Amino acid sequence: MNYLSTRGDHTPRRFCDILLEGLAPDGGLYLPERYPQVDAATLARWRKVYHEQSYADLAFEVLSLYIDDIPAADLRAICQKTYTAEVFGTGEIVPLRHVENGLWLEALSNGPTLAFKDMAMQLLGHLFEYELGRRGEQLNILGATSGDTGSAAEYAMRGKAGVRVFMTSPHGRMSPFQQAQMFSLQDANIHNIAIEGVFDDCQDIVKAVSNDLEFKRKYKIGTVNSINWARLLAQVVYYFAGYFQATTKDDQQVSFTVPSGNFGNVCAGHVARMMGLPIAQLVVATNENDVLDEFFRTGVYRVRGSADTHETSSPSMDISKASNFERFVFDLLGRDAGRTADLFGPQLAKHGRFDLSADPLFAQAAGRYGFVSGKSTHADRLATIRDCWSRHGLMIDTHTADGVKVAREHLQAGVPMVVLETALPIKFAGTIVEALGREPERPAKFVGIEDLPKRVLVMPAQADQVKAYIAQHCA
Ligand SMILES: *Cc1c(COP(=O)(O)O)cnc(C)c1O
Repeated sequence: MNYLSTRGDHTPRRFCDILLEGLAPDGGLYLPERYPQVDAATLARWRKVYHEQSYADLAFEVLSLYIDDIPAADLRAICQKTYTAEVFGTGEIVPLRHVENGLWLEALSNGPTLAFKDMAMQLLGHLFEYELGRRGEQLNILGATSGDTGSAAEYAMRGKAGVRVFMTSPHGRMSPFQQAQMFSLQDANIHNIAIEGVFDDCQDIVKAVSNDLEFKRKYKIGTVNSINWARLLAQVVYYFAGYFQATTKDDQQVSFTVPSGNFGNVCAGHVARMMGLPIAQLVVATNENDVLDEFFRTGVYRVRGSADTHETSSPSMDISKASNFERFVFDLLGRDAGRTADLFGPQLAKHGRFDLSADPLFAQAAGRYGFVSGKSTHADRLATIRDCWSRHGLMIDTHTADGVKVAREHLQAGVPMVVLETALPIKFAGTIVEALGREPERPAKFVGIEDLPKRVLVMPAQADQVKAYIAQHCA
């Protein structure tokens, strides 16, 4: 399988060539040259693989369609090392829970940092270790996080030979629990950098450093942001696992609602659907930062400035532009790389927006690709958390609450609606207390982490200072 860039670069690249990369050299995002098709017989076989063997074996089946430059036995071993009941809490790895009529929760939040990013990042840690070892190389990961990416990356890479992590985060904007999770790590290969700004300032710094090709080469800079193809691919697996739990037959349709920020999670759903998984609707749920909801309602994609980016109680969805969105638009435009490059390059740079409302292709976002959307606010979040607690005795986190709120607006008779549970309530305890007047349960291994010593450096939002720090610590 070869990979191409959404902006037209067709240099043949295989999986391991792009594993350690972020953006393509032309500024686009990598996608497979085609989506492997899963027919009914394969779907039936995979159902058995998941139920009678394991999630790890299912992951191997999906990944091996996209990865042909790692020997099958090695790839299977990597999957088996990654997806264990010990790391993810249950044998199902992503267990489904019934909420109410037709509505289900798929738990993606039982990994080491209690958020869905562990699902991909734990695999990435093992893939990086494998590939770097094979090449005899080192890698310095530079990342930007609004909370969950950073801790997931650090818990996946801590202690891994040949890897250092430099993680930027918006100073003072993560929950105390998230800060404690990241900053309490004492591993020498983990560096926390708190930037005086918002998440997008952090993302801009990562972009600026990555665009300095000489620096990038000299210091072997890599990324684990959600634009990394391997992360997206790892996420495709749990759409299949969710489908196999929500249905008994392979001709049934299922819809998924995905609490969305950078469009990484739901983009994996798009890939699963393109492979032939019978998904009726992909419901994009946003918070007050409704860039994506606006696009799917109106056809206008309008990035927000820092000043218009709201700080919300579902902070991992606080984005001003959705970094994976270009992948979907590329498919929506019939894989027209020239047009994609123009929209996400000159058009956004000049106008901060583009408008597809008059283009007949826009109607296909819902029609052919199944995308619909909705928005949830702080008040909705509180009401949904209260409602799930009082009616079902179910405590859900703030991001998942955004998902449940929007999912309820898109239910269709006879089609199970699976909401992806993206974090556990303990990560956002302040809002849970506001909603319910009680503290969420805390897993034993996290008791008292706020009191541990913190390792973090505060820095202004300047790429040069971050570069200097990296240079100093890569000697
Ligand atoms: C990252 C994150 C999201 C948003 O996922 P995207 O892939 O950026 O759309 C939602 N909820 C939680 C808890 C997250 O950590």
